[in-house]
Amino acid sequence: MIVLGIESSCDETAAAVVDGHNRILSSVIASQVDAHRPYGGVVPELASRMHVQAITPVVTRAMDEANLSIQDIDGVAATRGPGLVGALLVGFTFAKAFAWAKNLPFAGVNHLEAHIHSLLLCRPAPEFPFIALVVSGGHTNIYHVVSDNRFELMGQTRDDAAGEAFDKVAKTLGLGYPGGPVIEAMARDRDPGDIVFPRSLLEKGSFDFSFSGLKSAVARYVHEHPVQTRDDKARVAAAFQAAVVDVVCEKLVAAAQSRHCRQIGISGGVSANQTLVAALTRRAARYQIEVIAPPVSLCGDNAAMVAARGAVMIRDGHLCGLDKDVFSRALNLSA
Ligand code: ATP
Ligand code: MG
Ligand code: FE
Repeated sequence: MIVLGIESSCDETAAAVVDGHNRILSSVIASQVDAHRPYGGVVPELASRMHVQAITPVVTRAMDEANLSIQDIDGVAATRGPGLVGALLVGFTFAKAFAWAKNLPFAGVNHLEAHIHSLLLCRPAPEFPFIALVVSGGHTNIYHVVSDNRFELMGQTRDDAAGEAFDKVAKTLGLGYPGGPVIEAMARDRDPGDIVFPRSLLEKGSFDFSFSGLKSAVARYVHEHPVQTRDDKARVAAAFQAAVVDVVCEKLVAAAQSRHCRQIGISGGVSANQTLVAALTRRAARYQIEVIAPPVSLCGDNAAMVAARGAVMIRDGHLCGLDKDVFSRALNLSA
């Protein structure tokens, strides 16, 4: 089964073609990050308009790069939510029209389930059951992934997402947007020195996260200490990143042990952080647990993961009516 996937939940317009064996035939991503950078974050109205401009060329390129014609497509999938409504509507409506015109099955994909599915596109892919962390701009969710259709949410952030904390701390330090890559680059090979920021582990046995205290502690530190030189900023960035990495490692290893899983997969924009991946790999190895992180092209938003998730939904007859709408927030994973 060959599925065309479309993603437009935030500031990436993406299209991809994936076959029924989780093989990527093409994956095209048009990022709007440069357009939003001057505003210090994603401007929803601008995002929607840029999706409208990008969607047709991006889909055309994905078809060309897969070397396929429209007749070869067996199903269509698009992100239905969570995300920015105006942005989602562009890709979702385009995909519905495509499916309708060609009389193809259509799947409305949950963006978080798609991030989990990016792990199934890795080579080697994790084997079920495994623990997955979706760590991105809007979410920090731990799942027990039982099969390609069963995801048990074990824990989530109670306030800020990890990526959001990276972005806010970068703003506090005057490092620009998005914060993740710039903080990682500044912190590379750096000792956090004598700054120790709090690690919020919440109650014993909880797999939830909380990053807002850490974010406030950084803001307080910056308020009380002169942080002017690049060196000062790098020290704060390294200490902040070390705190995030510690908490994520601790919770993930505990989650894997509690469910007797031998593999942990991490996906979402923050999983592009190589310092996090290296620390988690080291920590998990002590417990004979393997860590799987996708290549950077599959960490952030992409349509290959949407097509892969859509292929499973279509296989299982879990189709979306053409009268259906998008949703902005994830109340229930399989909404
Ligand atoms: P969601 O998936 O929750 O709806 P989103 O789609 O906006 O949110 P992604 O595009 O998956 O999120 O990830 C974007 C986030 O990843 C941003 O917060 C960004 O700062 C963060 N990020 C990207 N690269 C890195 C990195 N190297 N280190 C840490 N964070 C990073
Ligand atoms: Mg993005
Ligand atoms: Fe995402």
